[in-house]
Amino acid sequence: MNNRRDLLKTLALLPLAACTRTLNNDTIVNLPESAPVPAGWQPDGKNLNLQQVKIKKVKAITTAPYGIELVIVKVETDQPGLHGIGCATFRQRAHAVVSAIDEYLDDFCRDKDVSNIEDLWQTAYVSSYWRNGPVLNNALSGLNQALWDIKGKMAGMPVYQLLGGKTRFAVDTYTHASGPNPEAVMDDVAKYREQGFRHIRIQLGGYGATHLSTKPDYKQFGFGQPDDNTLDAQAYKRGVVEMFRLARKKFGDEIEFLHDIHERIEPMDAIDLIKKLEEYRPFFIEDPFSPENMGWFNMLRQQSAVPIAMGELFNNPHEWVEPISQRMYDFIRIHISQIGGITPAMKVARLAEWFNVRTAWHGPGDTSPVGHAANAHIDLAVWNFGIQEAVSFNELTREIFPGTPTMDNGYMFVNEAPGLGIDIDEEKAKKYSLPHFNYNWTQVRKPDGTPVRP
Ligand code: MG
Repeated sequence: MNNRRDLLKTLALLPLAACTRTLNNDTIVNLPESAPVPAGWQPDGKNLNLQQVKIKKVKAITTAPYGIELVIVKVETDQPGLHGIGCATFRQRAHAVVSAIDEYLDDFCRDKDVSNIEDLWQTAYVSSYWRNGPVLNNALSGLNQALWDIKGKMAGMPVYQLLGGKTRFAVDTYTHASGPNPEAVMDDVAKYREQGFRHIRIQLGGYGATHLSTKPDYKQFGFGQPDDNTLDAQAYKRGVVEMFRLARKKFGDEIEFLHDIHERIEPMDAIDLIKKLEEYRPFFIEDPFSPENMGWFNMLRQQSAVPIAMGELFNNPHEWVEPISQRMYDFIRIHISQIGGITPAMKVARLAEWFNVRTAWHGPGDTSPVGHAANAHIDLAVWNFGIQEAVSFNELTREIFPGTPTMDNGYMFVNEAPGLGIDIDEEKAKKYSLPHFNYNWTQVRKPDGTPVRP
């Protein structure tokens, strides 16, 4: 009997005994009896109980090292040297995001536990009651990515490890080739093929469009603004078909070609164009319809087997939950800071897995290097990764953001440092702080002056 009681006593002590060890066998300090075993982060040679780390400050840092206003959230903790950063970049309304962070999110987060990422996401998400807007979601993304960064540092692991580990050795990407005419686009394609890219987006004319007219009638009548662009939809369609024909003729099947319609033509014109492109086997056609025109997908899917990528403008779960479950598109292209960060993006990826919808997260220049790192950590971990849009950051940007993901042979690589593996040099960032001008999305009009909705 006594032996049995002794045995039970010993067993009861085992969990606590386990709690006094960490991965590197250092003794934990100040560990409550019921606390789980923390692994890794050592601020001063001693391990730390995760539950003791509190948020001390959430602040916005702005910088524009390449002409785009980047907004970064830095979360400071009560542990010296332990901080995290996240991307909150919404270029068109950058100052509004800064206000949401400094004037609201900071106060909301003070003294809360850094460990409870899900709880902080859920409570911050509804803290304004109204939600699903890009300003508040970007602020929330900055917080969320910073908390994942901190958790990785405390665990001593890169974030992709916390998300389940690698399912591929690196992140395959696509780049952008463009030019004023199809021949010039092909020269650009040849350049990127030399750099190793296997996937190349091809665009004619101005950004996201083809055949932009500079002298439409509406301007002669003084309508619109001087810097408005004008799109001739039928000329655009002819130009894109010719560009794809030439691309396949010149490069055969060796390269995957992508194209972004950018929601700029009427739904039936988009369906007509996609059907004409089918013989050239696009890797995907992006954004055929504006978010207001989701109802047209049914008709498109019945008529074409061209893979479709959709979603960089999405904010609201209703824009992806039902369409993914109905297999309305093949690639989900959400701008991760636009929906609130890594936590919701992982839920989108996991939902999409069961419908064989692959990820193709938005990755333009107005996603900060921190946001690109977050994209890449998810890309490495999820099974249903499709492709990642990549940009090439200049040297100054890499100095401001040490640890920025690197590119090699068309693949993106993150480093193995704990967390997101990227930091911000605040002093250098300050020298290129947010310029005092307002950036607005390029207005495109039809030849009669009607505004086109992207
Ligand atoms: Mg796009």
